[in-house]
Amino acid sequence: MSEKIIDLQKALDDALSLARQHIDKGNVATYIPELAHGNPKHLGACIMSTDGERYYAGDSKQLFTMQSISKTITLILALKLAGEDEVFSRIGVEPTGDAFNSIVRLETKTQFPLNPMINAGAIVAAGCCFEQKGDRVYEEFLDLARKLCGNKDISMDEKVYISEKTVGMRNRAMAYFLQGEGVLKCKAEDALDLYFRMCSALVNVCDLSHYALILANNGKCPKTGEVLVEESVVRIVKTLMVTCGMYDGSGEFAIKVGMPGKSGVGGGILATAENKMGIATFGPSLDRKGNSVGGLIILEELSKKLGLHLFSGNVFYR
Ligand code: GLN
Repeated sequence: MSEKIIDLQKALDDALSLARQHIDKGNVATYIPELAHGNPKHLGACIMSTDGERYYAGDSKQLFTMQSISKTITLILALKLAGEDEVFSRIGVEPTGDAFNSIVRLETKTQFPLNPMINAGAIVAAGCCFEQKGDRVYEEFLDLARKLCGNKDISMDEKVYISEKTVGMRNRAMAYFLQGEGVLKCKAEDALDLYFRMCSALVNVCDLSHYALILANNGKCPKTGEVLVEESVVRIVKTLMVTCGMYDGSGEFAIKVGMPGKSGVGGGILATAENKMGIATFGPSLDRKGNSVGGLIILEELSKKLGLHLFSGNVFYR
């Protein structure tokens, strides 16, 4: 084994051990009843490097729903189906500083959602997809998710979908407002149904690290050379991940971790190290902003130990 391989596995194991000491500081999401069954002690991570190596630690096979991580794929699909001009005439690209499910800026700032990484923005992005293809578009979303994750078996968690569809009144309120304002051009319920399905796609950290690797590699699969996402689209997605991917925790994440990142209330976080690796973490114990407590620590540690911060100047801390 080369020295590099030993270092990466050790860095991952060490980061996990450190994170494990802190996961009891958070709580699993309960506002979607089905997510309340998550085990707060679960912790896992996976790294996939551009040279094809894979490193696992902890609960790396445990399945969880993508939740807001799906917003990145929804955006990719919306840009592909409806085009950049249409999408960004209805969704902004600015951070909010508010919670992911906040409703407040819709009326006080503009009637457009401020960015596609928060619920309101992703509901409009889902609407853009639905308006182009109707009900069939969920299969297209799953196909894209399967390709990006390198796993043809990715499917939807029916229970989580039903659970959120039943209780998702805040999302419903936003969608009806957006339909009333003409920002959503399809029916609110159609956009919502698609959005809830997208959030309920089931993955593990291995799947997500593959997806993160594709983003890190600017849309091209390093294994096959196939272009899965256009480079110009990847640039938009990663930029929005930096500025808005962790909602009102994005600034702190940018300072501490310094990589494009996207979290979900299912406990996942996805992060991309430019041209080097894709990283995914899982830990359903969340902080008050809805970001995984353990995942944040793992990513901060890896960023420090492996010199992954965008502005680290490639310094390796050993
Ligand atoms: N489905 C969740 C919701 O709409 C997604 C939120 C998240 O992961 N932050 O509330």
